[in-house]
Amino acid sequence: MITAGCQRTIARPVTIRGAGLHSGAPAVARLLPAPAGAGIAFLRTDVVGATPIPARLEEVVATARSVVLGGPVRVATVEHLMSSAAGLGVDNLLVEVEGEELPCGDGSALIFVEALGAAGTVDQDRPRVPIVLSEPVWADEAGSMIAALPAERFQMTYVVTAGAASMAPQMAEFREDLDDFAGSIAPARTWGMVTEIEALRAQGMARGVSLETVLAIGPDGFLNEPRFPNEMARHKILDAIGDLALLGRPVRAHFVAVRAGHGLHVALAREIEQRFIGRGA
Ligand SMILES: [Zn+2]
Repeated sequence: MITAGCQRTIARPVTIRGAGLHSGAPAVARLLPAPAGAGIAFLRTDVVGATPIPARLEEVVATARSVVLGGPVRVATVEHLMSSAAGLGVDNLLVEVEGEELPCGDGSALIFVEALGAAGTVDQDRPRVPIVLSEPVWADEAGSMIAALPAERFQMTYVVTAGAASMAPQMAEFREDLDDFAGSIAPARTWGMVTEIEALRAQGMARGVSLETVLAIGPDGFLNEPRFPNEMARHKILDAIGDLALLGRPVRAHFVAVRAGHGLHVALAREIEQRFIGRGA
């Protein structure tokens, strides 16, 4: 999440193809430039009469396994694209989506980071206006929590204790001024317990899940090779940056999360919106 400088969009359109993680259906996303101040919006091109869905907190309709935006017409699994845009400092985009879910690539944000890189960025004639906190704020639930502490820059520290019983807790950290989003956060993949994946499949979800699209965890540990010793915690940072980007503005804060997920990330973002920018601001 880049909190300073001027707003940016992409220099030229770019198309991303793949399959949805939960639907397994073919998914196509086309990223297009958007004017300064527009923010990010999703447009379902396969639905007649659909209007753009702003990537904003008030459009969140589900956070159970992925973030879903919209009303009767929805777009699902937006978090990795949102995170890539925030991580690379792309503020304004129109995303045309064919199908209800964004492509998942290899379960990380690399397809989006590569697409944004191929599209190139252009500076726009308007500054980014970060949200600045005057006091700490947090959201917690049943042994999980995420807090935001006032800070000069964006920073996130994430602790994960899930996984196989034998696995040690993981911690990862990202600082906007010192760390490279594309190299240290974007490659971290979605992860899941094999038992959970099987339960989701029974409900018709996780149809795009394979050892090519997730870091899978069995009772004795990882079933495929992790890309980082703390890949799970890095992926949580990836998700949280994407979820916080639904505020529409970057946040100057040190976020500290323990065992959190999309639901708590969005709850904290709503709290920040209410306390520090007010409704409709
Ligand atoms: Zn994710």
